[in-house]
Amino acid sequence: VEVQGGPRTFEISPVTLEEIREARERIRGLACETPLKPSFHLSERLGRRVFLKLETAQPTGAFKIRGAANAVLSLPPEKRALGVVTMSSGNHGRALAYVAQKVGIPAVICLSEQVPPVKVEAIRSLGAEVLVCGPDQETATEYALSLAEERGQVYVSPFDDRSVIAGQGTIALEILEQCPEVDTLVVQVSGGGLMSGIGIGVRSLQPEVKLLGVSQESGAAMYQSMAAGTIVEVEELPSLADALQGGIPPDNRYTFDLCRTLIDRMFLLDEDQLGQAMAHAFLHERLVLEGGGAAALGVLLQPESVKHLGQTVVAICTGDNVDPVQLLKLVDRYGGLG
Ligand SMILES: *Cc1c(COP(=O)(O)O)cnc(C)c1O
Repeated sequence: VEVQGGPRTFEISPVTLEEIREARERIRGLACETPLKPSFHLSERLGRRVFLKLETAQPTGAFKIRGAANAVLSLPPEKRALGVVTMSSGNHGRALAYVAQKVGIPAVICLSEQVPPVKVEAIRSLGAEVLVCGPDQETATEYALSLAEERGQVYVSPFDDRSVIAGQGTIALEILEQCPEVDTLVVQVSGGGLMSGIGIGVRSLQPEVKLLGVSQESGAAMYQSMAAGTIVEVEELPSLADALQGGIPPDNRYTFDLCRTLIDRMFLLDEDQLGQAMAHAFLHERLVLEGGGAAALGVLLQPESVKHLGQTVVAICTGDNVDPVQLLKLVDRYGGLG
């Protein structure tokens, strides 16, 4: 399933290349520059050069530390000292908790009941206050926002925040240095902070690069909203890609407009395709990836995506926070298929 995005270039961007460059300097020491690994298996299979950007190498196992670090370090010291609050599907909460611990400020992470136990435990072990507050992200977000107001703490959105977008955009600067010939990027899309940051970074420097987005089929908020031309509510359904779940609040300021301007094409993967991608990553790349983390690689496994790929493709491996037992079951189930 595909939808054509908007025009290729954008005139006014809420986040600039300069802000992404500043973010890169600011987050050094908290976030890593991650490896770009050639995938010999996928290169062979697809007859073009394929690279994987390993955000799994971050200290929290996902790229979200880039945005969280930039957001916290951008706050004026008096404000920062009061602490931060967020709502998260898991990885952003873990990243914010990690950064807060490193800089010595309190963090409150509000989660929905759908966040997998591995993620909840990882956040708790970083010393953050963890509140499981409600059946879905909408409820958890409302709670987090009211808590932030009540306590006078800063709410750090997982995606709709300029410093978060700039932080995620630092991935683009690294990719363009590591592989200047890149002509196609495959990027996971949930709230769209990752795609917005990468898109602004890449298009500012190499406007011709194609941006392919991918979401899970069940409850793809950005995809549905792009198709409708306005932000629509989606039902939050369980998925292997738990990191990609969740709606886009209707007061979205940046990521919806950025995504519909930047993205050339969106792909949706069903649960079998996500499972196959995770198994494929494990067996052929020797990579542990969570469902959301494997989605970009999953696009490359779909025969119908090949005609949209250029000669030098980079797929982002966004995260590895998966229950090992669950992963091994999926490898067992899908290993022979992908
Ligand atoms: C958050 C997340 C995404 C999606 O990022 P958005 O900025 O919300 O679009 C993709 N993969 C993983 C592993 C994530 O944690």
